[in-house]
Amino acid sequence: MTDFDFDIGIIGGGAAGLTVASGAAQLGAKTFLVEKEKALGGDCLHYGCVPSKTLIRTAQVYHLMKNSMTFGLPAIEGLDKTPYITNKEIFYLDQLPSSMVILWTGPIAIEMAQAFCSLGTKVSVVQRSGQILIKEDKDMADEIMKVLGSEGVTFHLNASVLRVKDLGSEKEIVLKDGEGNPISLKAEKILVAMGRDPNGKVKLSTLAAAVHPYPTLGEINKRVAGTLLSQKIFSERVRKGLKFFFNLKGRACG
Ligand SMILES: Cc1cc2nc3c(=O)[nH]c(=O)nc-3n(C[C@H](O)[C@H](O)[C@H](O)COP(=O)(O)OP(=O)(O)OC[C@H]3O[C@@H](n4cnc5c(N)ncnc54)[C@H](O)[C@@H]3O)c2cc1C
Repeated sequence: MTDFDFDIGIIGGGAAGLTVASGAAQLGAKTFLVEKEKALGGDCLHYGCVPSKTLIRTAQVYHLMKNSMTFGLPAIEGLDKTPYITNKEIFYLDQLPSSMVILWTGPIAIEMAQAFCSLGTKVSVVQRSGQILIKEDKDMADEIMKVLGSEGVTFHLNASVLRVKDLGSEKEIVLKDGEGNPISLKAEKILVAMGRDPNGKVKLSTLAAAVHPYPTLGEINKRVAGTLLSQKIFSERVRKGLKFFFNLKGRACG
């Protein structure tokens, strides 16, 4: 029987060669591999799958950043150089601001708009879309806007923020309205109320929702739907679990 130095010889250390070499060696075969390039890996690692997926992911991130306004991210020119407050600072202000521009119109923004307007601050609220409280039904949200409007809050809907600037005691917020006309607002404070991301996973609005002492409109809908539908959808055991969980958070589930 012929004597061989090796059980198997592999030419090429690409995806195929490396896989076969690794498998053969692990099965106990005496294996050699020859690669003409300096680095193992072949097309897939150096010129194919890996760099193409890296490029795709990089392009996705770049595209996301370029279109960040669509996703509600604060890519506002000048915001990094302009002092602004969030819900973290607003409860600890030393004095009542004479004027405040609130960016976006979630529940926190609307609560603060009403409270500060009632205290005497001139409040303007800016929203990208044509509706405040975007997660609520439009007719209810419009009703709330009407009430706040009658109390003195000014709303700028369908408005995108072009840039903000620190003018010292005042801040300038330049918007583009629905028709594309620029509008300049000046205010003592800017409240950025878009939900924050404390640990990269849980949004502040999610945490706030978990401990909110009273239900939002969405929660009322969920509760009503839950009471009616849970009997049909969930088993008694699952319902007990859900009930326990939601009661822990201060909510009821039917
Ligand atoms: C842009 C792009 C994207 C891709 N994306 C994917 C993907 O997402 N998923 C996927 O499964 N596949 C993908 N592929 C295909 C994948 O790259 C190939 O299927 C894979 O590289 C094939 O592996 P291989 O080992 O047969 O050949 P190669 O990777 O070409 O390896 C051959 C190796 O042999 C060496 N060699 C050649 N001749 C000699 C010689 N005479 N002596 C010594 N060494 C030699 C070469 O230097 C090379 O290292 C992609 C390919 C490209 C181009």
